Amino acid sequence: MKNLLLMRAPLKYIQGADALKHFYENIKDFGDNFLFICSNSAYKSTHDLIEESFKDSKTKRIYKVFGGISSTGEIEKMRKIVRDEKIDVVVGVGGGSAIDTSKATAYYEHKRIAIIPTVCATDAPCTGLSVIYNDDHSFNTYLFYPNNPDFVLVDSNVIANAPTKFLVAGMGDALGTYFEARACYKTSSLSLENGGISLSAMALCELCYKTLIKCGKEALISCENHLVTPELDAIIEANTYLSGVGADNGGLCVSHSFYNGVTSLGKKTAMHGACVAYGTLVQLVLENGCKEEFNKVRDFMHSVGLPLTLEEVGITKEDVHQVAVASCVPGESIHNLSGDVSVKELEQAILLVDALDHDYLNNK
Ligand SMILES: [Zn+2]
Repeated sequence: MKNLLLMRAPLKYIQGADALKHFYENIKDFGDNFLFICSNSAYKSTHDLIEESFKDSKTKRIYKVFGGISSTGEIEKMRKIVRDEKIDVVVGVGGGSAIDTSKATAYYEHKRIAIIPTVCATDAPCTGLSVIYNDDHSFNTYLFYPNNPDFVLVDSNVIANAPTKFLVAGMGDALGTYFEARACYKTSSLSLENGGISLSAMALCELCYKTLIKCGKEALISCENHLVTPELDAIIEANTYLSGVGADNGGLCVSHSFYNGVTSLGKKTAMHGACVAYGTLVQLVLENGCKEEFNKVRDFMHSVGLPLTLEEVGITKEDVHQVAVASCVPGESIHNLSGDVSVKELEQAILLVDALDHDYLNNK
């Protein structure tokens, strides 16, 4: 579909304080039997509010607390519940793993899918794909769906009471969105959903970046104090909708390849979004663009506590070669960059960002 523009998004998106109280009224046409696949903390923070939205309804609700990753084994378990209990609607409640498991379960069983993110750490809620793992936690595949989720609902009160590290990581994931899409657009690369990149997608991505710069710091302070402010709501929307729909329709580039390279080390590192943010600085160095842009992105990252050095990412200088090799394997999104990039060039860019940032921090 290289020449055809493509825009995909969730069918319906609702966000705000106390949004959960309106969950059922928004999906009552989907069916009567619901399976909620929840992370442990998500179950605690949302169960009572979800139940309140169902009061007086004649529906069946089954809650499964899900402790694992989005693996083939977990998905099989959930599919069996859907069949045995004649479920009409699968609802993913939690972070990336619960959401990805729910999306896959609904897709295989041909059921409607609703998503209630309880953290804003990744693009998972709004995208039309899942990351699937093997039961031993190793990466299995990306599972692409014909459509994005039917319904996404974010309750800002829940996000304001979630640990701030998730909001920060989500801002890191969202930070890559505009720059990765811009790089893809320049080379007429395909979006994450294999379509041509539209002006609409670029507008969402650009707004995502501008919103981070404008509201990121205040949103973080709001979250630290459990306050739902206009700035926090703006960042919830940027992290969840603008970044998710933006990346889906805008495409990925160096930032996400850098993250995939970091995961190849198999060790505990900073969260997905934090690595993506560092990878964005690497991309800006490789693009050799204007210094003001690099400085603006770095100032933002510093202001919200995103990692500026390799140490903060959780890797060493000795790891950089392996990260660069893994980031550049065929099929990686890094090859969407104009002029492409070699392992050696990437390795040097990763090290240069670390050196520049040490200098920056020393002069603070
Ligand atoms: Zn991401």
